[in-house]
Amino acid sequence: MQQTDMGVQARGGVITQEDPNLVTIRTRLPAGVLSLAQFRGLSEIAERYGADHLHLTTRQTVEIPHLDPARIEEIARDLEANGTPVGAEHNEVVNVVACPGTDRCKLANVETIELARTIDAKFFGREMPVKVRITIAGCPNGCNNALLNEIGIIGRIRPVRTPGLCTGCGTCVHYCREKAVTIRNGACILDQDRCVLCGMCIKSCPYTLIRSEDRHYLVLVGGMSGRHPAVGRELVRVDSPEKVVEVVDRIVYWIYRTAREGRLLGQQLDEMGFDAFKGRIEKEFGAPQSP
Ligand code: SF4
Ligand code: SF4
Ligand code: SF4
Repeated sequence: MQQTDMGVQARGGVITQEDPNLVTIRTRLPAGVLSLAQFRGLSEIAERYGADHLHLTTRQTVEIPHLDPARIEEIARDLEANGTPVGAEHNEVVNVVACPGTDRCKLANVETIELARTIDAKFFGREMPVKVRITIAGCPNGCNNALLNEIGIIGRIRPVRTPGLCTGCGTCVHYCREKAVTIRNGACILDQDRCVLCGMCIKSCPYTLIRSEDRHYLVLVGGMSGRHPAVGRELVRVDSPEKVVEVVDRIVYWIYRTAREGRLLGQQLDEMGFDAFKGRIEKEFGAPQSP
């Protein structure tokens, strides 16, 4: 086996392979967005160090496989200069994932990419007792499985019907997948208990008769994927990206102080006193409204 720079290899973004003479380097790419120049740069770096392909990961990063462990330091310098530094995968805050959000998804309720960059800038790579995956979804469709992350953030919006003007055309009924809208006596009725606050009916009404209210970010904690998947628990809803960052700050600190190594966050929420933590967060940021 070749001599390896253990200082660099100790970083989470350097991953040992089946073949002990090779390593994979994972990059840091918040929201999976990279410029064309960075894309070309990654390709050139891979080629320079003998890799013949790149690998896209489930957490929106790019990995360069089959690298010489003795050259990690040089590769890390080149990646830093390319604006795509070595990433993370140990017990730390790993690459922040985001769907396109309002940048281009017509179903999105909130901006996601800048929020992912802000969260990355503040928390990425912070050493933790457990791995902390953060994922932001622009709406409850959750295309990126935000519910199954240690910290999931979902943009939602509340539909409010304008009384008296509805034509009863039924377009919103057709678009609501939750069967939360029905037509009665020639007008639409919203069932708040069924509504998941996705906002589809608001966008669908040809007469713009369904108003949007209470645009917010729902923050969930302790979701898990892998062998025993579980949905995260609702912590709080906040109405601005700045407050999301503050809430994430409280969660990261709480996990750092309270979680124990060796188990996933979602498996120890009760021992960590999740309900008491939720109470403190609700006091600070406001209790969630229904639903
Ligand atoms: S989660 Fe919602 S906003 Fe994000 S890509 Fe999917 S549909 Fe669009
Ligand atoms: S917001 Fe979504 S779930 Fe709620 S009524 Fe409208 S379409 Fe249905
Ligand atoms: S789409 Fe608009 S006009 Fe048609 S039933 Fe729904 S709220 Fe009424």
